Amino acid sequence: MGYRFDAVVVGAGIIGLTTALRLQQAGARVAVVTAEPSAETTSSVAAAVWYPTHTRFEAHVLNWASHTYDEFARQAANGVPGVVMRPTRMLLRSEAHDVPWWASALPDLRTVAKDEVRAPFTTGWEFTAPSVEMSRYLPWLQDRLSAAGGTLIRRRIDALEQAGVWAPAVVNASGLGARALCGDTEVRPVRGQLVLVANPGLHTSVRDADNADGYTYVHPRSTDIVLGGTFESGEWDTTPSPATAAAILRRCTELLPELAGAPVVGHQVGLRPHRNGGVRLESDPRPAGRVQQLVHNYGHGGAGVTLAWGCADAATALVAGAVRPG
Ligand SMILES: Cc1cc2nc3c(=O)[nH]c(=O)nc-3n(C[C@H](O)[C@H](O)[C@H](O)COP(=O)(O)OP(=O)(O)OC[C@H]3O[C@@H](n4cnc5c(N)ncnc54)[C@H](O)[C@@H]3O)c2cc1C
Repeated sequence: MGYRFDAVVVGAGIIGLTTALRLQQAGARVAVVTAEPSAETTSSVAAAVWYPTHTRFEAHVLNWASHTYDEFARQAANGVPGVVMRPTRMLLRSEAHDVPWWASALPDLRTVAKDEVRAPFTTGWEFTAPSVEMSRYLPWLQDRLSAAGGTLIRRRIDALEQAGVWAPAVVNASGLGARALCGDTEVRPVRGQLVLVANPGLHTSVRDADNADGYTYVHPRSTDIVLGGTFESGEWDTTPSPATAAAILRRCTELLPELAGAPVVGHQVGLRPHRNGGVRLESDPRPAGRVQQLVHNYGHGGAGVTLAWGCADAATALVAGAVRPG
């Protein structure tokens, strides 16, 4: 029996959709299989600013981050919905800080002088970073998939070999779902809670990663501001905690007093698909059943948006041998 598609991507979050688009651009007939609509994925909750959160230097990670930065910069210049280049300020509390390993991905990182910050901060970095509103961007990605003939299938699969009914090549972009689908116990949730407030007119993204009370960030969007955050390892509960929300509001208002009194417009929780050992992006030597080629692309933790397009290119290169020009 023949296949209806050349490649099937499991997952309709940012990793699955970007990979599916790149596969289409390589000439493949593509389907995306997903248990949840994109609007209910972790990706839809992401603050979605470019920043390699909780990743460490590895040449390939820098390469993915760099490619993704450039792609978002192009998309922002072309007016893609939800993508803008935003001034960003990373405030630091200790004196000695090397230039970050990811600085070479940016065109404009500069160190902030001591007299430009107030206590408890001692210095900082300023740079321009892509900022993405996922409620606008994920639908745009899906529209592009459909416009190029792609198909979205709503189905939860229990094993990756089940995807072999649709295509000989399978990309596993199932995020946290990979824990069950691959039996990968290195994958676990890192819970993140956010508070959304109306935007009183802020434009710059501000981050205080060294705050002893919790990593603190303020990311303005077109109409609201994302306030964060938490990194709760191994925690699966997606119900917003009122006490955590109050703590986030307090830390963010201490960071930027102009936030005081901003009306709260929402609470969100997402589970970052963390993987001990980092992202798994590789061909699987043992595809099962009718799957002839299996490529994994999961485990992006708190940096899936930051790495998405670079990883999509790399995953597509791995699949390319199995893709027939359309
Ligand atoms: C609060 C918070 C803030 C964040 N902020 C940022 C940020 O500023 N910048 C950044 O780069 N990243 C950020 N992230 C991280 C980012 O959201 C993730 O890295 C990214 O969304 C992971 O994308 P994904 O496509 O791998 O996973 P997901 O979005 O979780 O998508 C997984 C997909 O796989 C499907 N799936 C799973 N199992 C199955 C199955 N058995 N059968 C069929 N389908 C299945 C799901 O239905 C879904 O479609 C943040 C995350 C959180 C929670």
